This record gives sequence, C-alpha cells and structure tokens, in this order.
Amino acid sequence: MKSSAAIGRRSFFARTGALAAVAGSLEQLSAAQSRPGARPKNIIFMVSDGMSPTVLTLAEHFSLLTRQKGTMWHALYNRPDVQRGLMDMASLNSIVTDSSAASSSWGSGSRIWNGMVNVLPDGTALTPIASIARQQKKRVGLVTTATVTHATPAGFAASTNDRGGENIIAEQYYNNVDVILGGGRSFFDADKRKDGKDVPAEYARRGYTLVRNKQQLMAAHQAPKMLGLFSNSHVPYTIDHRQSEELQREVPTLAEMAEIALGSLSQSSEGFLLQIEGARIDHAAHNNDAAALLWEQMAFDDAIQAVLRFAGKHPDTLIVITSDHGNSNPGMNSMSSKYGGTDACFERLALATRSVERMTPLLGSKAEYSMSFESNSPAANTAAEKIREVVKSSLGFEPTKEHVELIRRSLAGQTGVAANYGLDKPAGVLGLVAGHHNGIQWTSTSHTSDYTLVTALGPGSDRFQGVVRNTDCFRHMCDFMGSNFRNPSMDLQKAKQFMKAARLTKPHLHWV
Ligand SMILES: [Zn+2]
Repeated sequence: MKSSAAIGRRSFFARTGALAAVAGSLEQLSAAQSRPGARPKNIIFMVSDGMSPTVLTLAEHFSLLTRQKGTMWHALYNRPDVQRGLMDMASLNSIVTDSSAASSSWGSGSRIWNGMVNVLPDGTALTPIASIARQQKKRVGLVTTATVTHATPAGFAASTNDRGGENIIAEQYYNNVDVILGGGRSFFDADKRKDGKDVPAEYARRGYTLVRNKQQLMAAHQAPKMLGLFSNSHVPYTIDHRQSEELQREVPTLAEMAEIALGSLSQSSEGFLLQIEGARIDHAAHNNDAAALLWEQMAFDDAIQAVLRFAGKHPDTLIVITSDHGNSNPGMNSMSSKYGGTDACFERLALATRSVERMTPLLGSKAEYSMSFESNSPAANTAAEKIREVVKSSLGFEPTKEHVELIRRSLAGQTGVAANYGLDKPAGVLGLVAGHHNGIQWTSTSHTSDYTLVTALGPGSDRFQGVVRNTDCFRHMCDFMGSNFRNPSMDLQKAKQFMKAARLTKPHLHWV
C-alpha cells in the first residue's frame, strides 16, 4: 500500500494515464459518434447498482491507493467527446426508487411502483426492451454479480408483479435472452425450487450451453446461447474473492463475464443489447461496508475497461454507464485537526480483508450478546473479545471498549443504539464505529433520491447528456433498434386507484 504522499506524487500521471490502455478504442468511438446520423448497432448498458454519486470520487482515491492507477469512469470525465449527465430515476410512487422500478423504467419506458417488474399498478404487463430487441433481430445478454433473476437484469427482460418472484423470472428468459451470466442457482435447480422443476434442463433443451464455473465459462466462449450460474445466491464480493484461491478458480469476475458475453453476442451481424450490472455495490452500501463497496466499484471499472476494449474493435457500439439510485450516500469526512488525519484514515480502508456479509456469521447468534458487558462475567468477557477479534481480523481496526458495547447492544437486538433510526441496526452501528477509524460516514442503510451519474460514448451518446429522465432510455434504445414501439404508462393520480390491488403491502425481508 502506498502512503498518501506517494498517492499525491503519482496521482497526476495515474489519473491522466488511466485511459492509456484504451486510447485507440476511444479514438475509434469518437470518430464513429461524430458521423452525422450515426446510430449504434450494439448497445451496452452498464449499471453500477446503488452507486451514490460520491462513490465516483471515493473509488478514484481508493484505486490510486490500492492499484496505483485511477479509474476509467473518472478519467472519461476528462474527455470532451464523452457525454455526461444526470439521470432522474424516480419511480411512480416515490422519489426514492428501488432497483426493479428503476430498471423497469429503462426497460419499458414507464414509471411503475417500487417492487414490481414491468407491470403497471392495474396489472398491465409491459413489453420489456429485450423482447423489442429480439423482434428487431438483435441478440440480448444479461451479466450481473447478483442473482440473474434479480431486479436489475429482470427489468430488461421480465414482467411480474413482485420482484421477489425470482422462480418465475427464471423461466421468462427462454425466449428473449441469449446470454445470461451471474448468480442464482437457487431459482433454477430442481433440488432448490419448491416446484422441483429442473429449469437448467429446459434451457439446455432450447440450445443453451450450461456453465457452472470459470473454466466452463472460458471454454464456452463461442457458444451462441449460454446460461452461466456461478453461485447459489449472489456472486461473492470482490473483497472476499481476492482472499480465496478457490473463489478465484471457480468464480469469474464481472469483467471476465462481460468479455465472454461480448464475444458470444458479437457473433451476430445484426447487433445486440447487453446489460452489465455491478450489483453488489448496492449490497455493500446497505451494509455500510465501505471497503467491500470500493473493491466492488473497482471491479465494475474493470468491466468498463473490457467494454471499451471491445468497442475499439466494434465502434458501432453505444456505451451507457450509469446507476439506478444512490444508496446510503457514503462520504469521506474530515478527520482530526485541520483535516490533517484524513488521508491516513482513508488508507485504513485498504486493511479490510472481509466483507461485512462474511464477517457477520462469525459474530454468532443474538443470544450470545444478551448480557451487558458491564457485568464482567466470563460469558460477557468472551463475547466482547469475540467482537473485538472478528472486527479486527475483518475490517482491520480494533474497536474501543465503548464501541464494542455499542456493537454488542445492536447485535442483541436493542434499539436506540444509534440516534439516526436509519442506522439503528448492526450494520449501521458497525458502519458508525468503522467511520471513527476510516472516516467514511453514511446517511442510512437504504436508497436515496439523488440523481445518478450517466456517462455515454459511441454513436447515439448525445442523447445521454444533461438531465435525462429514466424512461427516455427506453425510447432511445427502441429508436436505435429501429422500433417505434411504446408501452402504455400511468400517471400517479390514476395509479393511486390501484394501490390496494398492488402487492405493496407484502413485507419484503430485504428491500433492495
Ligand atoms: Zn438496494
């Protein structure tokens, strides 16, 4: 790890040099987009899920710190031929959107209720962009680090009134998606589904190549249709992937999945539509897990590099890079007198070696934390020591006695540990405690209303500058594919009439 002084010295060259590896690609794309009436044959829509605008800066600092190079996304801001804007991602019922309403707004051109996938409040099923693409002879791909049936990929290719119905979504990709890569075996495999259906067998029957690990994925690079499922649930976090030889052997990175998908989809002369999602930026933000979030954002940036390399050889490609909503808005705060300790605190983020998701089970059960540590009983001392050890070995700092007690109370299920109710849960309290060491603080453990960043390049990218309404993306993509199809939409007044019929009252265990 480089010191902050080293980062400062290197930063000018590191930042300006970030695009050197793809300089040729950028020139090709620039020339292609400047031709009058240019229209893309291929569309690559990249989503850093749950990325608050602040993450662009944090990831730049973290990449300079840990990799001695800046990020692609940040460097693209320095090119005059790259379009930049903000995306208004509101859903039909809230200025704070969830991933399913967000992706559906891109995928159908209509704002819908949070929690639904391409369905209006009256139950009208909308036609997703993947079906339009297929009608226009385009091939379609979905690549994600979530379950492939999760809200963001589903918003491009499925239609169902509950985003939690991933078993149903798993059977909706047969007809309109060619390449499906990510996690989510639980929703496909016969021994894990309640109905016992062998869904992968049905994909195989329809000509898909099935892959389950990195080696199989690499071997299948020429397959025209493939279903790749690399974990039961979401793909493991990058921070955990880095620490495990087994995961590195078995599970591809987002950039590797993107490269294979691009190789497969580009075999068609008619072009393709590909969504690439860095899904776990969102999950890390829900956990107020700064290190996991930044490693994840850098993995997404590696996928940007893979996409830019591809586009250099195929400059008739539009690349849109954006996010679906902010999440918990992490920010690096000034630390110590005259902010002088700030850089040193930020550098501590690089000491974390485990995601909060993997750390939490090591802390054990709620019952272990029911006694007050003030009692000084052997059980209380054992529990306190456990918290101290697990936090230190995972996040790279040793919590104080007072902080251990705060974590203990939150793990025991007590409320009122954090005065900000949005942080009053173990992940929020851990985030608060970690912030004393690394300087990152959070507004909540849930989504925010911020306009998201959008960056676009290649033919057609001029449509993505300035303030872009989320629903306009569908219209632009249809136009580029030669379709004038439009889905119906509904205004809020009318939508309220159907509020009771909508399944909004059903509790969701993890609202993401
Ligand atoms: Zn979320």
